Amino acid sequence: MEYRRLGSSGLKVSALSFGSWVTFHFQMGVDPALRSMEIAYDGGINFFDNAEVYAAGESELIMGQALKKAGWGRDTYCVSSKVYWGGDLPTQKGLSRKHIHDACHAALKRLQVDYLDLFFCHRPDLDTPVEETVRAMHDLVQQGKVLYWGTSEWPADQIMQAYGIARQQNMTPPTMEQPQYNMLHRDRFEGEYCRLYEEIGLGATIWSPLASGVLTGKYADGVPDGSRLTLPDYGWLKERILSDEGKAQIAKAEELKTVADDLGTNRALLAIAWCLKNPNVSTVILGASKPEQVTENLKAMELLPKLTDEVMERIETILGNRPAPPIRW
Ligand code: NDP
Repeated sequence: MEYRRLGSSGLKVSALSFGSWVTFHFQMGVDPALRSMEIAYDGGINFFDNAEVYAAGESELIMGQALKKAGWGRDTYCVSSKVYWGGDLPTQKGLSRKHIHDACHAALKRLQVDYLDLFFCHRPDLDTPVEETVRAMHDLVQQGKVLYWGTSEWPADQIMQAYGIARQQNMTPPTMEQPQYNMLHRDRFEGEYCRLYEEIGLGATIWSPLASGVLTGKYADGVPDGSRLTLPDYGWLKERILSDEGKAQIAKAEELKTVADDLGTNRALLAIAWCLKNPNVSTVILGASKPEQVTENLKAMELLPKLTDEVMERIETILGNRPAPPIRW
């Protein structure tokens, strides 16, 4: 395993990490979740990602039980939660001081830990002043309940605004963002955010490296039994992936097969290693519906040195979606 600094912070996160969206509760109970986390941990993974909204809190409950059973030293791993979608009532959602406070404490309880290493604002909240959110996060940091706070899928200008407010008022600035980043989804990470890595030292814990499985090639001949797209709660995702645009992406994944074959690997590993090639990625959050997928996907580390400039250019030609270079004023 390789360890990378989380942006300009001193925290070293494993280049691969492990998350529980969709999988914990809907596809895995405590035992397979624990098994998957053990494989990850034994492979050097030190960051486990979660959120209050995942399976309406059930995912954090499962991860908390798994962490307890695993019995690892609290100083040997990092665990996160995210706040935004906590419930239907006005007080249970968004990024108000109240919901941030309540969500943090509820996550600590479900995860059975005393502090969250990383705590993310899961989306921007246009109804709450950014200053209120920054102060609520800063206070949790001051109280020792959160070590690093960050955002997820915030526009670059709002991340800059939060950073500026924090700096001006001597509060803790955001350390990291959690954006989607994969071969099929590049514009925000490689374009919109590009100034933030240098200017504010933003770290990035990127999600859906396999585009929910599309990049493995598993959807080329329809939807396989037991895969994410068969889950009743994720009909919206199935609709998106089987749309015309989604089908074009499935076709792109087919074209990548020859590259993977020539490297003696498979497309899942190729797609994960491709994300790791980007130095602005602090960690690639893996998802897995079975422990065997964790074992398999950890091998992406070994593939990384094989992604030479020539191979990357070959992939670039197939993808044909390199974001335009950023405008420098
Ligand atoms: P991926 O895009 O990597 O999808 C993972 C899924 O792909 C697995 O659950 C499995 O689904 C399938 N898969 C994985 N490995 C293989 C393999 N080797 N061969 C075939 N199929 C495979 O990541 P996720 O979308 O799961 O996202 C990862 C994490 O990122 C989440 O757990 C979460 O922590 C975070 N996240 C954050 C978001 C945010 O808004 N901040 C949003 C989404 C995710 P199956 O077997 O069911 O087909």
